[in-house]
Amino acid sequence: MNVILTFLKNILSLDNAESEVFDVIDKKHTGAVVIARPAHCVSRQQVNENALKVLYRLRKEGFDSYLVGGCVRDLLLGREPKDFDVVTNAEPEQIARIFSNCRLIGKRFRLAHVCYGRDVIEVATFRKAISDDKTQKPRLNKDGRLLQDNIYGTIEEDVWRRDFTINALYYNIRDFSIIDYVGGMEDHKAGLIRLIGDAGERFREDPVRMLRAVRFAVKLAFRLHHDCEAAIAPNAHLLAGIPPARLYDEISKLFLTGYGVQTFELLRQYGLFSILFPATDKSLMYEEADFPKMMVIKALENSDQRIADNKPVTLYFLIAALLWEPMLRKAKEKIAKGLPESNAYYEAASETLTQQVRRIAIPRHLTLAIREVWSLQSKFNARVGAKPSRLITHPRFRAAYDFLVLRAQTGDAPLDVAQWWEAYQHENETTQRKMTQPQVSEKNSKSKRKRTYRKKTKIAATHLLLDTHD
Ligand code: ATP
Ligand code: MG
Repeated sequence: MNVILTFLKNILSLDNAESEVFDVIDKKHTGAVVIARPAHCVSRQQVNENALKVLYRLRKEGFDSYLVGGCVRDLLLGREPKDFDVVTNAEPEQIARIFSNCRLIGKRFRLAHVCYGRDVIEVATFRKAISDDKTQKPRLNKDGRLLQDNIYGTIEEDVWRRDFTINALYYNIRDFSIIDYVGGMEDHKAGLIRLIGDAGERFREDPVRMLRAVRFAVKLAFRLHHDCEAAIAPNAHLLAGIPPARLYDEISKLFLTGYGVQTFELLRQYGLFSILFPATDKSLMYEEADFPKMMVIKALENSDQRIADNKPVTLYFLIAALLWEPMLRKAKEKIAKGLPESNAYYEAASETLTQQVRRIAIPRHLTLAIREVWSLQSKFNARVGAKPSRLITHPRFRAAYDFLVLRAQTGDAPLDVAQWWEAYQHENETTQRKMTQPQVSEKNSKSKRKRTYRKKTKIAATHLLLDTHD
């Protein structure tokens, strides 16, 4: 009977067949709660077809194969997963032998990428946390950070090295059940982000988990479990020891996935923002903090809105906004000490970015873009003659203009200047020429022109010497 049902299950791929055969398959997960197909909502119809191919093929070759992590979590919530991660007991070389379209990546821990055109399915072999292995001591640094995590294991071992219970649910392609070793299903229903094991220890092993906790809380509208929440404050400082390149990857996920404002608020609430952006955090503490806070919030709101509208977003624009006030403040201090304005802004921009990249490795092409956006701000004051027509052809004009609007919205730049540029860029050439003609009185009065220029530049006060585009 079992053989017939197994056979039936293997050849049928419709979900209604799943419920008929679920209970006779895979019974080896002792110690786990197995949620049979009729008791959960994850259907193969929602699973990426290439991921399914990989799962079936591994099974056909005699291996176990599961979906795990964010995709199971998101499917349970009826959301579209970002990617589909497969885990198996096949080792990377075995996976490579099965799939001709496979390449192995990673030196320390090898992963298989099975490629279907541009669609890449990541296949990992079960790993175990070394701390579970009684014969080997885990390699931790002085702060308790895990330095080694690359020993193959079984599913029962793999589960304990995952971060949160909701990320440790396995969808079994053998019987379409969900296997839960850690109470992830209950936490899922309760909307709780709970670390597997001791919260403090897990954060010390990998402090980035604190950022992940915030990210998932916002993205899923879940709460942090009390233990998880309580373990953040004592460990937040450990984030400063994370390689800046990894933090760059994390902040991209934190701020560019459509929930930037809430993420920012939660990161501040848990004292994590100050570790990521120390200078910005300081600028939010000043008494007159309305402008920098508005600047940050408005920039994040803009990005969130653009993502909601399916428009492209860039991280450099956001970082330019986050660091604008700290850069201005630095420049003012330098001017007060007697440095010429242009030098002061140039140096302030360099120092602000240099300090920030020590914490978060912003790639060089982005820091250059930030400097350009900043430096172009002073160019918006010149609205007479040939300069405006040159400025709108600048490759960074659009971003710089958006930045000007952001500043105008927060009271940092005159609204009428932003409005003038809004009109100017959309007018035809004839009108543009009219708009940039000097006033008659100005034509005749060189001294008046100088006075007007001084007045305008004082308003924006953003002389940055960086550009070579004048
Ligand atoms: P999403 O892809 O939607 O951002 P995710 O949970 O899939 O979320 P990934 O970074 O793709 O996140 O990781 C896949 C899975 O790997 C996680 O669900 C988790 O089980 C495990 N994982 C990832 N990062 C860590 C970590 N720092 N510590 C422990 N487990 C982790
Ligand atoms: Mg994922």
